[in-house]
Amino acid sequence: MPYEDPIQRAIRVLKRYPLCDRCLGRLFAELGRGLDNAERGRALKIAALMTVHDRVRRGLSSPEELKLLCRNLGAEYREICRALSVDVEPNTRCYICGGDIESWIGRYTSAISEVIKSEGVSTFLVGVRPPREVVRREREVVEEMGIDTWESVKSELKRVIGKAVRSITGAEPDFEHPEAIFVIDMERGAVHVERPALLLLAVYWKLGRRISQMPWYTRNGARRYPLSLYDACKAAADLLGSSDVVIHAAGREDVDVRMLGSGRPLVIEFREPRRKVPLSEIERVLNSYTRWLRFRVLMGVRRDVVRRVKESGRTSYKIYRAVVVTGRELSIRDMEELEAVFKDRLVTQRTPLRILRRKKDVVRVRRVYEVKARVLAPHVFTALIKCEGGLYVKELVDGDKGRTMPSFAEVLDTDARCVELDVLYVHKQL
Ligand SMILES: [Zn+2]
Repeated sequence: MPYEDPIQRAIRVLKRYPLCDRCLGRLFAELGRGLDNAERGRALKIAALMTVHDRVRRGLSSPEELKLLCRNLGAEYREICRALSVDVEPNTRCYICGGDIESWIGRYTSAISEVIKSEGVSTFLVGVRPPREVVRREREVVEEMGIDTWESVKSELKRVIGKAVRSITGAEPDFEHPEAIFVIDMERGAVHVERPALLLLAVYWKLGRRISQMPWYTRNGARRYPLSLYDACKAAADLLGSSDVVIHAAGREDVDVRMLGSGRPLVIEFREPRRKVPLSEIERVLNSYTRWLRFRVLMGVRRDVVRRVKESGRTSYKIYRAVVVTGRELSIRDMEELEAVFKDRLVTQRTPLRILRRKKDVVRVRRVYEVKARVLAPHVFTALIKCEGGLYVKELVDGDKGRTMPSFAEVLDTDARCVELDVLYVHKQL
């Protein structure tokens, strides 16, 4: 096929299909930079008109050619047809959009801008579902005319409306973490607002005992423990105007176990937040809820990080500190034996008796990497235990009536009870 320049191509298209400036320009969207498609279309129409006008004047084309070309070119173009005594079919509508595209842009821009202004949204994203008929007709023109420089009406509407909304409201388009996603359903003439959850990667420290992750209630509805991690997160959710908050932590310590040292990673999910709040302010509110919980908010993250954080709770190693009370007096020799036995040792555990009501009775095998033990008093020692995630540490100490083997009690051949337990370190593998 011989080369056809864009003006010739525009003439060919316009003779076959009446198109508005924007729908014509969109067929040539890949040509030229920094232009709006409506400008592109208008420029092509003027150039096409001048080209055909020139050909008519030189006797190379019949004035009838102008007739087709000028069908929907607006008043200033019709002038030229009148001057050449060509009848123009008045107001032939754009074949693709029916002449409605500019009013669509105006209508949806102001609908979205109003929501943004009234709800104080500062970052947003626009999605468009154009009318099926419009998409079909656009495809038809593109295929029929062999156009390979076009942009889809969907992509143009998204871009143009996003830009207009930005200039009206000052809100910024954000493709990563928008506060609001506006989905324009043109078939139904409706705009749906979605508020994506805000996901924050954070670390928490539990400085006291009797603190659960989620609130626990007794059968008659009273709180079993006065504090939970959720309570502090809920306070931050209120600050954000969020409807609900979900905690995704890298594992969990028992209610009576402190989380010290490195802290434990978690993702706090704030559902449908209605306000943009700086992370430092969220962190401040989390930390002012109680002195027994501390948080560090690291950054906003995507949904896939939730899975990675939760998995890291199972796969990463932990370091615990246990205070153990024993039935008999212990010596340094006992401590040395304990350390020797639990050097890189696999421990077999049936589900602990204390949680057997809630969980299935299964056997799990976990590795203890290392134990360091010191006698504090004749019947008391403290142990640092480095082990795989998921090991039941209290049962490692007391043996759980033979359900955990080997155990400290078994190795020391005496009763042993873990009276205090802290998590000192959770290895992060994010
Ligand atoms: Zn159009």
